[in-house]
Amino acid sequence: MFFDNASTTKIDKTIMTDFVGLNDEYFYNPGGLYFDGRKVSSFIEKCRESIKENIGANSDDALIFTGSATEANNMALMGCVKKNTRKILVSMGEHPSVYNVALELKNRGYNVEFIPLDKDGAVSPKTFEKYMESDVDFVSIMYTSNETGAVNDIASLVEIAKDINPKVIFHCDAVQGVGKFDINVEDLGVDMLTMSAHKIHGMKGVGALYVKKNIQIKPIIYGGGQEKGLRSGTENTLGIYSLSRALEIAKTNLKSNYDYVLNLKNTLIGRLEDSGLNYVIHSKDNSSPYILSVSFIGCRAETILNMLSDRGVMVSNGSACSSKKSGNRILESMGCKKEEIESNIRISFSRENTLEEVEKMASILVDVVTEYIKKVR
Ligand code: PLP
Repeated sequence: MFFDNASTTKIDKTIMTDFVGLNDEYFYNPGGLYFDGRKVSSFIEKCRESIKENIGANSDDALIFTGSATEANNMALMGCVKKNTRKILVSMGEHPSVYNVALELKNRGYNVEFIPLDKDGAVSPKTFEKYMESDVDFVSIMYTSNETGAVNDIASLVEIAKDINPKVIFHCDAVQGVGKFDINVEDLGVDMLTMSAHKIHGMKGVGALYVKKNIQIKPIIYGGGQEKGLRSGTENTLGIYSLSRALEIAKTNLKSNYDYVLNLKNTLIGRLEDSGLNYVIHSKDNSSPYILSVSFIGCRAETILNMLSDRGVMVSNGSACSSKKSGNRILESMGCKKEEIESNIRISFSRENTLEEVEKMASILVDVVTEYIKKVR
């Protein structure tokens, strides 16, 4: 039973079926000047337009396809900072593909500050106001935490930022938000926004960066000049299609998926409440229905993960990308105790999980934790 959907999701079956036909028609290089090549190029443009429409972008805004959201995040930061960038603000909750880039910029001499999280895992507008000063030229704050599911009030944070410095560039990593929340870049007011196909039942290795018109961005990958010179490398046509189609499918069922997944999460929480176990749920009142971050006090997360895996349940500790590192800067920033950090696991849902599966998983989880606690006593 797969409950690690924040790390990746299975490609939608209808998209897999589409691939077969599309591969015959659109395998040509979109850079080819012959008719079939140009046809691929216009197919990619159609996908781009569909994504732009689904995130509320204007026709003259840009959407750059990349080889991952990690690359899109690198591009957002590295491609926007200039010699004269005065200050960069990044939240402590960011995915490593933003956080580690910010650290690298700091190492290169940029003035980078990290905004702490409040105890529910979000950047509170009050805290943000303290950090946001008129010399801040760049801000990056994520939409939803991949670790706790905490949701940031991006529209309010952008408003604060632009009030203080109207020229500030605001980037949002919305990888765990796109296709799950009704994301509209105009309403949010962001200048750049990152998304990833494989988190929403598209293909791995496909990301995109929305860039509002008039935002100056430089490439981080040089070569043949694809994507208007901003991201060289032959376009991943079927991958791009998978992102645009996955988003269309997700948007069509956004509300029903949200309610469906929320019911799965609440069912699990209900089973935990009935269990009498000693646990803490993080970002409880402010979290995406797709992610449950929970600590079972007195347990070691790795052991619980292994015990669950032996019984056919796949979950993760924190983010899969950082699971090999000790400590957890995100829970630490939220003020969690060591015992909560050591025992933290992330259970993440998708529309493909069933209620029956959740009931089964909940009962295995309660058994495993009870068994563990008995053993260490
Ligand atoms: N940003 C967030 C919030 C994520 O959760 C992830 C993946 O876990 C990424 C960025 C990186 O996405 P990708 O796997 O497409 O590089």
